[in-house]
Amino acid sequence: MPKQRAKVVVGNWKMHGRLADNAVLLKAVAQGAADLPENVLVGVCVPFPYLAQAQALLADSRVVWGAQDVSAHTEGAYTGEVAAPMVVDYGASLAIVGHSERRNYHGESVELVAVKTQRVLEAGLTPIVCVGETLEQRDAGETSQVVGTQLDAVLAKLSPQEAVRIVVAYEPIWAIGTGESATSQQAQEVHAFLRGRLVAKGAPDVPLLYGGSVKPENAEELFRQPDIDGGLIGGASLKYKDFLAICEAAGAVSVTQ
Ligand code: PEP
Repeated sequence: MPKQRAKVVVGNWKMHGRLADNAVLLKAVAQGAADLPENVLVGVCVPFPYLAQAQALLADSRVVWGAQDVSAHTEGAYTGEVAAPMVVDYGASLAIVGHSERRNYHGESVELVAVKTQRVLEAGLTPIVCVGETLEQRDAGETSQVVGTQLDAVLAKLSPQEAVRIVVAYEPIWAIGTGESATSQQAQEVHAFLRGRLVAKGAPDVPLLYGGSVKPENAEELFRQPDIDGGLIGGASLKYKDFLAICEAAGAVSVTQ
């Protein structure tokens, strides 16, 4: 029997949330997560100002929390930036790096994302490294080349000991926030390709999450794929019923796989 990897479901709130609404959401997620099978890991990545609130409301739960980005620097004259050790001060354990919205709207290069991954690891956090192609790139048959280049840039900077500490999220840009998820076959195909890269690096069990319009209706089918270890969830992570239903789908798969 191959070793069974845990299922991981992480919410990416993006730039959403206010204190009062967050409190309702965080408490409901903490409560719902308590009933999930043990090998389902649940996390939320919140806007920086709400890290303290996440810490206060999740500290006694099994839900972990984190940031959606960090600076490529550790300290210094970088107005507006937030360093990974600052995120650690709020009890966080996760940080997303290389989300397509950072790559596209903030011009983050593959090299910058690789450096940010190093900063996150140095701080003792788990980086969730996002990779994904545009629709044009997919239609041109460039998906493997694009996601391979994005992942390789990160892996090239890491030792095998560091590489085993990352999480990778495959997020096709055309599926993010569009309501149109990749099919489970499309996602599995890319995940198998990414798994090959991780195996070559000596990190075969790195969790590989799928992100892009995951909903309660499609989560279980996606999570059943052999190389899909869970999801990075945007829009649906803002509605606790939907987010918990997705976590339950991960739970259902984890007990039958
Ligand atoms: C995301 O932005 O990480 C994401 C997966 O968004 P959505 O679930 O809304 O497509």
